[in-house]
Amino acid sequence: MIDTQTIRIQETPNSRINELDENNIPFGKLYSDHMFMADYKDGEWQDLRIEPYQNISVSPANTTLHYAITIFEGLKAYRNPQGEVVVFRPQANAKRLNISAERMCIPDVPESLFMEALTELIKLDSSWVPSAPNTSLYIRPFVFGTDEYIGIRPSENFRFMIITCPVGAYYSQPVNVKIETEFSRAFEGGTGFAKAGGNYAASLYPAKLAQEQGFHQLIWTDGKNHEYIEESGTMNVMFIIDNTLITAPASGTILKGITRESVLTIARDWGVKVEERPVAVKEIIAAAKEGRLKEAFGVGTAATIAPIAKIGFENEVYELDDSQRDFSAKILKELNDIRTGIIEDKYGWTYKV
Ligand SMILES: *Cc1c(COP(=O)(O)O)cnc(C)c1O
Repeated sequence: MIDTQTIRIQETPNSRINELDENNIPFGKLYSDHMFMADYKDGEWQDLRIEPYQNISVSPANTTLHYAITIFEGLKAYRNPQGEVVVFRPQANAKRLNISAERMCIPDVPESLFMEALTELIKLDSSWVPSAPNTSLYIRPFVFGTDEYIGIRPSENFRFMIITCPVGAYYSQPVNVKIETEFSRAFEGGTGFAKAGGNYAASLYPAKLAQEQGFHQLIWTDGKNHEYIEESGTMNVMFIIDNTLITAPASGTILKGITRESVLTIARDWGVKVEERPVAVKEIIAAAKEGRLKEAFGVGTAATIAPIAKIGFENEVYELDDSQRDFSAKILKELNDIRTGIIEDKYGWTYKV
């Protein structure tokens, strides 16, 4: 266990906060003034510091550039009606970072270090947390190997960083998705459960092919027979058939989303019938044909809820009735209201910075 170490803070003399227009935030292009860094050397995290956001330099033989020894997290901070800054479930992200870390031979980032780094960084850059409706500050913690070594072995040195960027009102247009039956995102024994950089690099080509066919996104299926639904793009995916909320169990091939878990918790509290079990492609297609597939939607931090309008499978496209999106609209509002402190947070999910 690391003691609460002091974080050295070097404030920028040139804040870029004037570049932030809350009503028109370009996604992922404008980063807040500061970033957090810590280095893992000689078996411990050291040199905790916050510096002006800037480029970093790495060796051309950097082990991560060649072998993707890198993991990340994604979470958001919101401004509540009192003007305070609250982060949604950061401890859950700290725990998941370490699940990813173990799989990639990356050392644990103690939860106390994660929370202290996040708290100090968000405090310093709190003016970057927008307050316009549906805006937030996206927080990106990540860890990567820093060895200068092109042999293949676990890295010995690492860097833990956090950067943040404001994100705008993200009205997620209903998306058209294609059930992927050729490529796989994950397989038993692989790294699907980890938020590891390489997973995303490998997903780009199949997604590009689907986009060329007019789809926004893929629904990934199991790597063995492509018979069971796993995730949608970089989100978990849920279905409402008749009045039951159905989603695949979080297994070795599925990323255990914090949004997913939050939606399931609220749904159960509301008395909605919830089933976490393997979801056969056949079952979804049959329900769509019979008009029993009421809703389909992705769930994840970026969009929270991304309603699905059309599902493509084997040269057919199944359209969902958009007048039936009752559950997804209701759960989106509930989550927004909890995160921004509009309703009571009875689950203890929000963390005040
Ligand atoms: C991050 C991620 C999710 C969603 O997780 P949240 O914690 O809800 O943001 C789902 N699937 C994949 C593959 C992801 O990378």
